[in-house]
Amino acid sequence: MPSILRTTRLSTGDEVPILGQGTWGMGEKPNRRADEVAALRLGLELGMSLIDTAEMYGDGGAEEIVGEAVAGRRDEVFIVSKVLPTHASRLGVATACANSLKRLRTDRIDLYLLHWRLGTPLAETVAAFELLKAAGKIRHWGVSNFDIADMIELAGVAKGNSVQTNQVLYNLMRRGIEYDLLPWCRQHGIPIMAYSPVEHGVLAEDGRLAKVAKRYGVSRSQIALAWVLRQEGVIAIPKARKLEHVRENRAALDIRLIPADLQDLDHAFPPPTVKRTLEML
Ligand code: NAP
Repeated sequence: MPSILRTTRLSTGDEVPILGQGTWGMGEKPNRRADEVAALRLGLELGMSLIDTAEMYGDGGAEEIVGEAVAGRRDEVFIVSKVLPTHASRLGVATACANSLKRLRTDRIDLYLLHWRLGTPLAETVAAFELLKAAGKIRHWGVSNFDIADMIELAGVAKGNSVQTNQVLYNLMRRGIEYDLLPWCRQHGIPIMAYSPVEHGVLAEDGRLAKVAKRYGVSRSQIALAWVLRQEGVIAIPKARKLEHVRENRAALDIRLIPADLQDLDHAFPPPTVKRTLEML
C-alpha cells in the first residue's frame, strides 16, 4: 500500500502531494527504460504520486515511460504534462493533448501546463485548455516559466483565474521568485511547482550544504530538497533514475529544518533583495 505524503490544495480543492517526480531526460535511451520505469514505480510506492512530464521530454519518450510506470494503477497517480508553446494554438493544443494521452496510455491528464510562453495570445491557449477540460481530457490546467507580469496578464484573460499552478525554476541557487512571484502566487492561492530543486544534480555536490547536512547525517541533496519543501504552497518535482536517489528524496520530506539551519543557508545562498527576471533551464 503506497504511503500518503504531505499535501497541498489546489484552488479546485484537489489535494496533491508536495513531493513528486520529474522525468526530464527519461525516455531518451532504450537501455535505460527499465531503470526509469522502476524508479518511477518505487517513487509511487513511497507516495510520490505526482509525476511531471512533457511532450518535449525525449520527444514523447518520457510520456511513454510514465504510461508504462502507471499501468494498472492510473487512479493513484496525478499526472502533470506540458504542451510546447509552438503547439499553443486552439488546434495545436487539442492535437498535442491527444498525442500525449496516447503515449501516456490514459484518457485524461490531471494537470496540463503551457511549457513556456511564446507568441500565441494567452486567451487562445486558455480557451483551448477550457475546451479540453469540458471534454474530460484534462482535469486542470496551469502554466510554466511565467514571471509576475505574465501571471498578471493571465489573470486578466477570460477564465485565466482557473490556473492551478506555475511551474518554475526554484532552488537554493535560484531564489529570485522569493522577491515577488512567490508572494504573488501565495496571495492568489496558486501553488508553485519547483522544478530542478537540486539544480540538475549540482547541489548534491555543493560544499556550502555540507555543514547543515552533517548536522542531520543526510546528503547535501536532501538538505536542498528539504529547504524547498519546508514552505507552504510549494511542490517539488526532483527527477531521479537511481533507486537510492528516489529513496533519499522521499526521506528529505521528513527533515525539519530549524531557524539556525535556515540562517546558515541564507548566509551561503542569499535571498534576493531586488527584482530578478525569472530564470529558466
Ligand atoms: P533536478 O531534479 O534538480 O536534478 C536531477 C538530477 O539530480 C539527476 O541527475 C539525478 O540523478 C540527480 N539527483 C536526484 N536526486 C538526487 C539525490 N538524492 N542525490 C544526488 N543526486 C540526485 O533537475 P531536473 O530534472 O532539471 O528537474 C526536475 C524536473 O522538473 C524535471 O525532470 C522535469 O520534470 C521538470 N522540469 C521542468 C522544466 C520546465 O521548464 N517546466 C524545466 C526543467 C525541469 P539520477 O537521475 O541519476 O538519479
